[in-house]
Amino acid sequence: MHGSSRVLVLNYDFSPISVCTVQRAFLLVFLEKAEMLADARGGLLHTVNSAWPMPAVIRLRRYINMPYKGVLLTRQNIFKRDNYTCQYCGTHKELTLDHVVPRSKNGKSSWSNLVTACKRCNARKGDYTPEAAGLRLRRRPARPSYLDFLRHNSGLFQEEWGPYLQSNRAIA
Ligand SMILES: [Zn+2]
Repeated sequence: MHGSSRVLVLNYDFSPISVCTVQRAFLLVFLEKAEMLADARGGLLHTVNSAWPMPAVIRLRRYINMPYKGVLLTRQNIFKRDNYTCQYCGTHKELTLDHVVPRSKNGKSSWSNLVTACKRCNARKGDYTPEAAGLRLRRRPARPSYLDFLRHNSGLFQEEWGPYLQSNRAIA
């Protein structure tokens, strides 16, 4: 099987809505429910009588109403967003989750208030804000974009998708 066996699916308005298998994408194109916008360079799908270019990006032929639900807020997804790196000291070891504004001070469990932290930094921080504990966040935590989501999901991201993801129109 070709290494790039995933296809980016765009809505009729060109906003990215999902990722599917080559087989499914090919079927959608075959049934004229989608058109192929980009093919995976060099990839061919072989049928009994012919070979077809392997799809890399397809666009639905009619608009479907499918609001982007966003990346689920889970421990694993926060680790992924932070590249499995403590957001205070940069280590990759003994990772846990830290509430930037502690729960005791009404800090919420949200994308902008949860970061990956090692046990040491977490213990040092205790029940304080980073400033009060003398710690500095490496970057401001935020909800991952659709592009981040694609990049972080099992190495799905493919070069051919780049031009179709620049605008990030799907992210409201
Ligand atoms: Zn640390």
